Amino acid sequence: MKKFDAAIAGAGLIGGSIALELARAGLRVGLFDRQEPGQESSWAGAGILSPAPESAAMIPLVSLAKASMAIYPDFVSMIEEMSGQSAGYRPKGTLQAIFSRHAREELSTVVALHHGLGLKAEALSAADARELEPSLSDDLEAAVLRPDEASVDNRAMTQAVLEAARRSGVQFFPGSGAEAICREGDRCAGLQLKNEKIEAQWTVIAAGCFSANIEGAAPYAPVRPAKGQMVSLRSGDLKIERVLWSEKIYLVPRNDGRILAGATVEYVGFERGLTAGGLEKVLAGAIELSPGLAAARVEETWAGLRPDSPDHLPILGPTDVDGLLIATGHFRGGILLAPITAQLVREWVTLQNVSVNWDRFSPMRFHSTTAHRAPA
Ligand SMILES: Cc1cc2nc3c(=O)[nH]c(=O)nc-3n(C[C@H](O)[C@H](O)[C@H](O)COP(=O)(O)OP(=O)(O)OC[C@H]3O[C@@H](n4cnc5c(N)ncnc54)[C@H](O)[C@@H]3O)c2cc1C
Repeated sequence: MKKFDAAIAGAGLIGGSIALELARAGLRVGLFDRQEPGQESSWAGAGILSPAPESAAMIPLVSLAKASMAIYPDFVSMIEEMSGQSAGYRPKGTLQAIFSRHAREELSTVVALHHGLGLKAEALSAADARELEPSLSDDLEAAVLRPDEASVDNRAMTQAVLEAARRSGVQFFPGSGAEAICREGDRCAGLQLKNEKIEAQWTVIAAGCFSANIEGAAPYAPVRPAKGQMVSLRSGDLKIERVLWSEKIYLVPRNDGRILAGATVEYVGFERGLTAGGLEKVLAGAIELSPGLAAARVEETWAGLRPDSPDHLPILGPTDVDGLLIATGHFRGGILLAPITAQLVREWVTLQNVSVNWDRFSPMRFHSTTAHRAPA
């Protein structure tokens, strides 16, 4: 029987970052994935690093998001050095475009909300915004500059994290999906694969939107997939420096000149086909924000499945099964939240204490109501 200090189910950016942190803390780590690592949500995402809440429901996430933002530059430097690979980090800020006829009111509400949460935000006139980002539409009424935000190339970042983990001694097991946790009374003794038991003192479920399919983990991780359709564009002369947001879509420039446009949020189960309506929504929103993109070349289209939880907040921390930790449900923010997730799991495993309060994200918040039911 294979034996580890920690066995992790799921080798996306979350599982990979946790594996790296635990290995750096001296643990023997096995990282199990049902397929090749890093091919799901962490591959499909846009890579925006923004602690700003997209809705009132996301406000409880801001402190965790700020904590992750604060350690991001060091995390990127570490993985780039360890892996010899770039993560495509761009600390260039975000510009939120406002098209509304009530722009003045909207502007002051948005800026006040950000300041109230301790986030930097600056009101800009349409002319000032277009000076920073000349591709913005003439219909723009105003904008908010969020200078502390950033982006990464999440595909590159995920590969860099996985390579850093490999070089730190993490053992990888692709094509080895977890079917269940091995439960011995009140204790989790590891993972059950198809034909093999893996023994571990600590077991971490980080299988993204598939976490609820692992028997024994489901009551603590009632996640469901939220599909997002994305388009990658390339334009010869149109340049975008910052991440651009409108009410409808976002645009994310990459260091190699690509401009990513995204994304839909659809609850259609594990189906991930591209649709005419989904792509139309993304492309129409992109062209409305930056009309010059009408002439851009479409390089790639894809869809991915975000791990969403019933309250849209991450599911993070220990359970009432000794040794079992959950790290999923990061929904639209898993790229941003990977460094802090990994740090907190490492702190819990090595110190049984965490430096940022994670009670709000406890897997136990769902357990009492879902313990004996399959997730919807
Ligand atoms: C279109 C889109 C845009 C996004 N944009 C952003 C963004 O701009 N910023 C941001 O912060 N976040 C963004 N996200 C969200 C972010 O991508 C996710 O929150 C994050 O990637 C989740 O990482 P993960 O490792 O938990 O999941 P995943 O990357 O999905 O990894 C889960 C892994 O578990 C494996 N697995 C599944 N079942 C099993 C099993 N039984 N046993 C073992 N392994 C298993 C899978 O094969 C996979 O490798 C976006 C997501 C999408 C889809």
